[in-house]
Amino acid sequence: MANWVFHSLSRGIRTTRWPTDPETAAGVTPGRPRAGVGSAELAARCPTEALFPHDNGVGVDFGHCVHCQRCRHGDEALAWEQDFTWTSKPEQGREALPARFSRSIHVRYIDAGACGGCMGEIRLIDAPAYNMHRVGIFITATPRDADVLLVGGPVTEAMREPLRKAYEAMPEPKRVVAMGVCAINGGVFGTSFASAGGVAAEIPVDLVIPGCPPPPLAIIHALLAVTGRTEPAELVENP
Ligand code: SF4
Ligand code: SF4
Repeated sequence: MANWVFHSLSRGIRTTRWPTDPETAAGVTPGRPRAGVGSAELAARCPTEALFPHDNGVGVDFGHCVHCQRCRHGDEALAWEQDFTWTSKPEQGREALPARFSRSIHVRYIDAGACGGCMGEIRLIDAPAYNMHRVGIFITATPRDADVLLVGGPVTEAMREPLRKAYEAMPEPKRVVAMGVCAINGGVFGTSFASAGGVAAEIPVDLVIPGCPPPPLAIIHALLAVTGRTEPAELVENP
């Protein structure tokens, strides 16, 4: 016990102060590409058509970027940025939750068919380095206590009904955040006999978090945006 106290005091506080201060710790994601100067050949390098030629260079549709990093290296490499303010609001997204939720929200996570990557990042927001409780975010085991439904993965056939039931069980006002490109539009899984594609095919979606998977700070950004404590960013960026 005494050793743990000494160890903790000697290490000091290691929890990130983001978004109050920039995140500078090594080992986090390299970020995501930014629109910039580039040719049609650069856009053609993207396997998911997230890059598109534009009059002034190459634009990025973050809703399709799977962070393969093909545009990060080689000729005409795009600049990457590590700002983590990735959350975007789709056209049909509702307004942020009322101000009384701004200091405390309860979140229910649903894996609607994710590959495991998104689930791994969700677990991390509760780790000491990110510590979601410092910004008033709490996980709840039941949708009946949830203010926000955070959904990862394409909606598989087996999860269509449970997802809809979970949404209906939530008290009003409620909001839905779709996490990762699979939850936005089906991602690499697309739509098929086994997959409905994105979450919006089944229930209303208020915010989306691009990324594959979105890193912990991007998830926290979304959960702050759902209460109006931070602003969503654009999903498509032109150069
Ligand atoms: S990192 Fe994203 S935008 Fe760049 S090539 Fe890969 S999928 Fe396309
Ligand atoms: S967005 Fe990426 S990490 Fe998340 S479920 Fe889809 S493939 Fe997996």
